Parts: sequence; structure tokens; C-alpha cells
Amino acid sequence: MLHRPRRLRSGATRRSIALLLLAVPLAQCAVNPATGRRELSLVGEGQEIQMGQEGAQAAAAQMGIYADSGIQRYVAALGQQVARVGERPDLPWTFSVVDDPIVNAFALPGGPIFVSRGILAHMNSEAQLVSVLGHEVGHVTAKHSVNQISKQQLLGGLLTVGMIVRPELQQYGGIASQGLGVLFLKYGRDDEVEADALGFRYMTKIGYDPREMAEMFKTLDRMSGSGTRGTPEWLSTHPDPGNRVEKTGERIAQAGPTVANARKVERESFLRRLDGMVFGDDPRQGYFEGVNFLHPTLKFRFSFPSGWKTQNSASAVIGASAQGDAQITLELAGTGSPQQALSQFLGQQGITVSGTSSAPINGLTAAVGTFSAALQDGTSLAGYAAFIQLDGTTYRLLAITPAQLMRNYDGAFRGTIGSFARLTDPAKLAVKPARVALVTLPRAMTLTAFNSQYPSTIPLEQLALINARTTSETIPAGTLLKRVVGG
Ligand SMILES: [Zn+2]
Repeated sequence: MLHRPRRLRSGATRRSIALLLLAVPLAQCAVNPATGRRELSLVGEGQEIQMGQEGAQAAAAQMGIYADSGIQRYVAALGQQVARVGERPDLPWTFSVVDDPIVNAFALPGGPIFVSRGILAHMNSEAQLVSVLGHEVGHVTAKHSVNQISKQQLLGGLLTVGMIVRPELQQYGGIASQGLGVLFLKYGRDDEVEADALGFRYMTKIGYDPREMAEMFKTLDRMSGSGTRGTPEWLSTHPDPGNRVEKTGERIAQAGPTVANARKVERESFLRRLDGMVFGDDPRQGYFEGVNFLHPTLKFRFSFPSGWKTQNSASAVIGASAQGDAQITLELAGTGSPQQALSQFLGQQGITVSGTSSAPINGLTAAVGTFSAALQDGTSLAGYAAFIQLDGTTYRLLAITPAQLMRNYDGAFRGTIGSFARLTDPAKLAVKPARVALVTLPRAMTLTAFNSQYPSTIPLEQLALINARTTSETIPAGTLLKRVVGG
């Protein structure tokens, strides 16, 4: 998902977060308003808020914000309702939908909350959304990440990126996960149980049916068994969803009459909001056809050497040789000229230049340098740095391998750099993502029958999952169901 340049941020955000963590503030001992616990906090509220806001910028840059102002406003309004009944209503709460097909939701210190469009597509009522927002708000009101950071500092260690990287981000490759590393502290099981309890409290306080929280857990439970792509934060770091269904039942029983009036579900009105939402990967953000990478929005294409493994992350497109001993990465390199960008790159300490060229590549202004670089361990790397400009944006293709293998990969590297070109194929430029569509059942039928009458472009099992139905139960006439079309 290489996003548009304005969304991309790199090192600056990372470094400032690291610096924030380095500063050890005065310890404060205070009673946590949400949990009633007395706790030692090394992170003051001002610092907590600042960390979260820096993190929110990085998250938005890496994942992209889903470009639908209607759904953004809707989620934000609901989130604010939840936050208002929590114990820290005065925090600068924000609620955003990230452009991520993976089922996920996360909270950053001090108030920024994110849900993915992937998790929205798997929900079937407003009450389910409120339950997830409530859980995430609970992590913030209970200061779970703040406590986590304080504990780490008490142990004398600084947070190391590897320790806290959100596991599902690792699949995006090192670059993305490092940028987001400090943002995704892994909460303990107790923290998760507590966030569930707080979410339960908040949702019932504003009148939502807590049984829908259990329904959400059931969907997550089915997902974990279905091999659905990605291991969402909601599955990998959260308690077993099966237990959470039971636990929610216990909470309802214990709450007794106090939740009797919490009956708001808003199934249909919620589903209507999903109409037209992008489902799954969005090819507009770049996609692969074999080793060819095409980006219909930024209008370029290039090809990795055949047989290479490839990956499209939010901030880079990466390919690695089958043996893993050579790598080519495409990244955005600002709006300066290719020549400027190349000079800057080659001017870095430790780099030895063996040649440069400013011949255009497929008609595009370009500057290419061949270089070697000594590493601290005494070995050296060699490769090409190519800067190519298209429509005012400069792209960097960096191809590297251990110096002694340069001869083997020289042709492959040149091939990839030489393949960068403007994407002109109208069919590729017009590619569209799959989208959620809604159908009101004209008569009672099973999901299997529904799928043959109103076909989807996803497998029946996945359709069953997003509708929280089995394939064989009879669904009453008049029911609103999701299908997925196009893509
Ligand atoms: Zn959680």
C-alpha cells in the first residue's frame, strides 16, 4: 500500500518518539480514575498526549486514513460518545478509520483511537462498533500503555523496538514495523480483560446492548479458526475470544437490571454505512502481477527480477532474491530533482561511488549511481541507487547485495531500474477495489442460495464470516445482508 507522498513520513517521527521515551520524567504516584488502582507513573499526562499524537501521525502515514469523510465522521461521533462517559473525558480524543484491510483496532496513549476498515467490514451492528471503541477507550482510560512504559523505565531499560512491535506489522517488513514499533505496546492479558470490562461499562452506559459485544467476540473467534489473513491485534494479543463470550455473559448476569435498558443495537443503520466500502486489498494503492508492480494512483510500474519474493508495505515496495542475498526497495524520495537526491545519497559517509549516469529511463528524468559501502562488521555492500522523477515526485530504487555478489546481480539490478516506467495501460489505470454492497433479502433463503442469486467475489465461507451467519441456516425475508462485488 504505497501511499501518496503527503502521507509518508519517515525517520523524523520515529526519532522524536524515541527521544520522548529517553527523557525520564519525575515519578508520580496517583490513583487511576478508571481502575481505582494506585500506580506509579513515570509518564505525565502531557507527555502521554504528546507521545500518542506523534504516534498517530506515524500510524496515519504508514497505514493511510480511509478516504471517506462520512464513515470517519460517523466513527468519530460514536467514539466521542463513548469517551465522554469514560473517566478521562477531557483528553484530546480522536477516532479514525485506517485504510487497512486487516481486522484491527488500536489505541495510542492519550486518546488517538484507530479502527481498520477491515474490522468495520466484519461488524454487523453499531453496538458491535461501540463495543470495540469502548475496549480501546478502556486501554487509554486505564493508562495501560503509560503503565507499560513506566514499568519498562523502572526496569532500567529503554523500550526496544523488537520487544514491542505489533506482531501483525512484522509481515509488512522491517521498515513499517520499526516506524510503528513504539506505538504498539503489547498489553498483558489482565489489561485486555480490564479493557473489556471498561468497554462493557461504557457501552451500556450509553444504552448499547452488551450482548453485541459477545457477538463481536464470536466473529473474532470464527476468524481465528478460518485462516483469515492477518493476525489482528484483536486476536493475537487479546484473550481467547471464546472465553470473552462467556465472560460477557457473566458480566450481563452480574449487572442485572442496570443493563436491562441497554438495548440499542442499530443493525440496519450500521450496515447501510458500510455500503460501498472498500473490501480487502485496495489495488489503487499498488499491486503485484507476478513480479510486476503497478501503481494505478501514482501511475508507475516496474518489475522485480523473476523468481524474487515481493512485498508491498505502506511505505515501501520491497523485493528480495530467492536466496535472500540481494534486495531492491522502492521508496518515495521527495520532490527534489533526481540529480540532487542522488548527490545527497552518494555524499553519505562510508559510501564510495564507482559511477553515475543521468540518462533518462523510459523518457523519465533520472540519476543513477553505482556505489559500495563499508559496513561496521568489516563487510561491504554494493549496488545501485536510482532516482527517477514522475509527475513531480521522485522515486528511489535502491538495489543492494554483498559486494562480492555484485557481479551476479548486476544484470538483475539494471533490469529492474530500467523497467521503471509510466503506467499507461487504461485497463490497469482503471483497476477498482472490491466493495461491500447490501441486499435486502426478497424472501427467506440460506446464505448459499443468497450467494448464487447475488454472487460475491469472495469465497462463501468468508461471506458467511462477514455476515456472522452459517451457510445453511435459513435467513428471514427482509434481512439486510452484505455481499462483496468487483475487485
Ligand atoms: Zn486490547
